[in-house]
Amino acid sequence: MNVLKFGGTSVGKPERMKKIAELVLATPGKKIVVLSALSGTTNTLVAIGDHLLLGQKAKAEEAISTLEKHYQGFIKDLFSSEAFQAIGEEIVSRFFIFMRMLAASQFDNKGYRELLAQGELISTELFYQHLQERKISSRLLPALYFMSIDENEEPELEKIAERLKPLIGALSNVDIIVTQGYICRNHRNEIDNLKRGGSDYTASLIGSAIRAEEIQIWTDIDGMHNNDPRIVKKTIPISELTFEEASELAYFGAKILHPSTIVPAQKYNVPVRLKNTMDEKAPGTIITGKETPGSFKAIAAKDGITAIKIKSSRMLMAYGFLRRVFEVFENYKTPIDMIATSEVAVSLTIDTNAHLAAIETELKKFGTIEVDNDQAIICIVGNKIMDQQGVLTKVFDALNEIPVRMVSCGGSANNVSVLVDKQFKDKALNALNEGLFGLK
Ligand code: ADP
Ligand code: ASP
Ligand code: MG
Repeated sequence: MNVLKFGGTSVGKPERMKKIAELVLATPGKKIVVLSALSGTTNTLVAIGDHLLLGQKAKAEEAISTLEKHYQGFIKDLFSSEAFQAIGEEIVSRFFIFMRMLAASQFDNKGYRELLAQGELISTELFYQHLQERKISSRLLPALYFMSIDENEEPELEKIAERLKPLIGALSNVDIIVTQGYICRNHRNEIDNLKRGGSDYTASLIGSAIRAEEIQIWTDIDGMHNNDPRIVKKTIPISELTFEEASELAYFGAKILHPSTIVPAQKYNVPVRLKNTMDEKAPGTIITGKETPGSFKAIAAKDGITAIKIKSSRMLMAYGFLRRVFEVFENYKTPIDMIATSEVAVSLTIDTNAHLAAIETELKKFGTIEVDNDQAIICIVGNKIMDQQGVLTKVFDALNEIPVRMVSCGGSANNVSVLVDKQFKDKALNALNEGLFGLK
């Protein structure tokens, strides 16, 4: 069994949705098709939710109306027969009646998350009806029946697998099972989600739960590129990556994959293939446990980083100091990305400021604290690059004109990370593209 995930742009236009039906049909065997919301929809739902939380009902209604018109236009081109036009109209009107009902209610965070779920719920229903119109046998399996997260917002992979077994077993004579990416239930059994870009994660969780042959992520680009194509002009696709390499790139900002996508796939050794919906012949990227030799493979950047420096003479020759520092972050469920230490100071980075004030207060007990917001981690990935000679020289030669705030290497053989002020992020990515890959 394969899992095929199609992202927002892959379902964002009626002709694209028709095209993915072809791609699904061309894939042999049984498959689970995971769909995102149509491109732009989740952003609009976020905007509507923000308006509603601020009590700006008129603005919310304006955005709802614009979105509704978009869907009314979409179904006109998606369905050909009158009968299915009517089905499409019924679906769209039902969703928008529900959205307006949510908007009219006491809107809170729970309502917000319900609103965010509507994008994937409507896209899968429209796609399923499109398959019905073409008489392609398929079933819609609601993700809310099996996808769940615990109180720490971590997916419950074992439970997901247990629930999926009978659900898929009951569909043994169906080759195409369609489900929603991104959405899930939380530990209170409310509708929730796997954070932005989460449909990739849904696909890898399902693929791992059912031990799929392959998890295919179909998107608008021909695989993982060596650098961020939104920032750097000349980038090239990478044909093979290991789970570790892909995981580092996803975690450190390669938007093509949700940061956690690779984790379950690696755990159960399920290959992840990245493919381009617009160019299905392009080889894309295959991510497996197999190492491919070579030096630098790719660079990614993650911004929204805060650097914290704790200076303390008490650290001098003391043991247990770092544990006490890390405990503060643990207590506030705040992960640390990079660390650098000296005899009297420790610098580290976090990617959320949700508890920054409280963390700062607690850290002040240890010494003086310096906080720098708006930093970016640039992550350079390659097969065992840290075991190769001259790697750091090449990196720092390329970054010659850029002030580097922190460096982390040696944690993994496959990665060197540097921290720069966000204003230097684009320049650093371009400089490394030229210095490490000879591309400009
Ligand atoms: P989808 O809607 O299919 O999930 P996304 O927009 O989330 O698609 O991810 C695909 C986009 O990721 C690409 O269009 C590209 O601009 C961006 N991207 C950022 N870094 C990389 C990279 N290293 N390789 C490929 N794409 C990348
Ligand atoms: N629709 C969700 C988002 O835009 C999930 C996804 O596309 O992966 O974040
Ligand atoms: Mg995405």
